[in-house]
Amino acid sequence: MDRYTKQRIKMVDTQIRSRGIKDARVLKAMETIPRHLFVEEALMDQAYNDNPLPIGERQTISQPYIVALMTEALELTGKEKVLEIGTGSGYQTALLAQLADRVCSIERIASLANGARKLLDYLHAYNVAIRVGDGTYGWKEESPFDAILVTAGAPKIPAVLVEQLTLGGRLIIPVGDRHTQTLTKATRLSEKIGDVKKEDLGGCRFVDLIGEHGWDS
Ligand code: SAM
Repeated sequence: MDRYTKQRIKMVDTQIRSRGIKDARVLKAMETIPRHLFVEEALMDQAYNDNPLPIGERQTISQPYIVALMTEALELTGKEKVLEIGTGSGYQTALLAQLADRVCSIERIASLANGARKLLDYLHAYNVAIRVGDGTYGWKEESPFDAILVTAGAPKIPAVLVEQLTLGGRLIIPVGDRHTQTLTKATRLSEKIGDVKKEDLGGCRFVDLIGEHGWDS
């Protein structure tokens, strides 16, 4: 076993399983995906630490536990079509690619989207489509989605994203001000857009979701 594999298994044990993440598919995916490849070489030795790391362009790869918490909340079985908003390094995208049938991911910064595409191709994650643009509009042509994951902090839940969920579909999104947010799970209950069940998954701190239905840049 190489040293990164050892670090990864330890990360899942001490940071993820120990904090209550139970979904065996999520745990397995996190033991498998080489997180160190998604950060620059100088940071590879810190890739399995219990914190976010910079990925350039003033953006971050999220803390492993938060990634696990959000991913588990999507309740993926392998058959779903998932929309991710905020591709960033592509690490979370790689996990989703392993856990769902198809992943559509939107990133507003082209250099990050390009880097993520290269890594996802290297990992043979061919069930991922990446688009550069403002993800707060969602991806109407590809909708509806069984699950939507927003990996940046929003002032409110964009109604347009709820519209692109299937009935019973789950939206996970950090909602709050520009400093702290509440990780929110919204499950669509009926055709009526406002008819969602909202659950609070705890406090978090994300970079801004910038766009038409997010914050101004
Ligand atoms: N999940 C990513 C990973 O594993 O590396 C980390 C995502 S990072 C915390 C948030 C990302 O959301 C940034 O890359 C940022 O550029 C992107 N972002 C912010 N607003 C966006 C928008 N309106 N549409 C698409 N991406 C956006």
